[in-house]
Order: sequence, then C-alpha cells, then structure tokens
Amino acid sequence: MELKVCHLYPEVLNLYGDRGNIRCLTKRLAWRGIDCRVDTMKIGEKRNLADYDLFFIGGGQDFEQEVLLADLKSGKDKEITAAIEDGKTFLCICGGYQMMGHYYETYEGVKCEFLGAVDFYTVGGKERMIDNYAFTCTDSAGGSTVVGYENHSGQTFLGSGVEPLGKVLRGCGNNGKDGTEGCHYKNVFGSYSHGPVLPKNPAFADFLLTTALKRKYGSADLAPLSDDFENTAHESVLKKVLSDQVR
Ligand code: GLN
Repeated sequence: MELKVCHLYPEVLNLYGDRGNIRCLTKRLAWRGIDCRVDTMKIGEKRNLADYDLFFIGGGQDFEQEVLLADLKSGKDKEITAAIEDGKTFLCICGGYQMMGHYYETYEGVKCEFLGAVDFYTVGGKERMIDNYAFTCTDSAGGSTVVGYENHSGQTFLGSGVEPLGKVLRGCGNNGKDGTEGCHYKNVFGSYSHGPVLPKNPAFADFLLTTALKRKYGSADLAPLSDDFENTAHESVLKKVLSDQVR
C-alpha cells in the first residue's frame, strides 16, 4: 500500500508550522508500514495532480494568497477542481482553505477570485480572530473533537451543498457568528486550525488517512497506535481552551 501526497504551495503557504501536518501524516503511515510519497507543487512547478491521493495546502497572509493567484489560474485551478470532484482527499488550512471557495475579499477591498471548487466565500473583517480554539467534527467528518489555533481576519460563509467541518466549542471558527468551523465537501476538509493541527489531533489525522486509503483501495483498517503523547497534548489544550474566559 502507498499514498501519494501533494503539498501545494509549501513555499508560500506555511503559517504556524502548517507543514508539520505532512510530517504527521507520513509518520502515521510509516508506523503502520504504509509507504508514502510526498511531492511539492510550488509556484511554477508542474505536477500531474491526477496521480495523487491526498493534498495538503497551508495558510498564508493576504498578500501571499495574492502572490500565487496567477500560478493558480495557469490551469492548476482546473486540475485541483478535477481532483476534488474525483473524490481525492484534501486538507486545506486557513488561507489554503479560503482558496477553495469562490473568492476572498480582504478588509482593504482586494478581491481574490479563487477556485470556486467549494460553495463558500470569505470576506476580511476589521478584527482578527486569534486564539486557541476547539470544535467537534460532524459525524460525516469522523466526529472527533479537534483543538487548534486560529488567526484570520477572513470570515467564511458556507453556501448550500457544503457542510461545516464541525461545530465550534470555544473560539470563532468560520466567522465568529454562526458557530460553524471549516467545510466538508466530498473529501475536502477545510479548517482554520493552524498549529499544525494534526499532531495533537490523532483521531482527525487517522480519519483523513482512512478517507484517502478507502478512496484508493476500497477499504482501510489502520492499526491503532499508542497515541499517549498525542492524546495528552490534545487533552491539555482542550482543557485550557474550555476553561479560558469566554471570549
Ligand atoms: N490571510 C487570510 C486571513 O487573514 C488567511 C490567514 C491565515 O492563513 N492564517 O483570513
């Protein structure tokens, strides 16, 4: 068994160590004896995206999202959209999450027309949403509780045909208004969770790996790992987040 992973725009979108999610995924596969090949797709790099099983894209500042627009519109937007419609697994974090929607209009009024692969839009707000936070994934997204760190001015509003990734327990999530966090469309999972999010959320990491393996091989049965360290970190952050003063 092998998973082929494509890390999109790692040189531009990598806030708060988001690339650590790649290390977490590759390690959790290796500990189970499953091969994993990781390729990057940087600005100017060409890849046959149909070859990949799982995609990761991290977060970035407004101008970094603007920097890669021309490269995205060089045809990669169509390839990424085709991979989404083909049921490939995506983990998209913050700025990378926003890029999957129709557009992101910054607070300064710069409107970035993005992929439109998932039915939502984002508008920059005056106040940034910054803090540790936690949410519970929907059952269709594995049902685990996720702890993370959010830092965004963008307020994301989901359209019809796309589910939230989960429900906010404490923090802002998509927009600080409707209690939703992230998105789930086909096998695209978007979230505002930096950190990187996966190392201290092993259940969510394994859900993503299982999703990609099932899409490729029809089934997947990941052997349990001794996640004592990961779960201690998870519980520690969750306790802190839930005990913090209400924001
Ligand atoms: N620039 C976007 C925003 O501020 C995304 C930020 C991020 O990726 N952390 O909403």
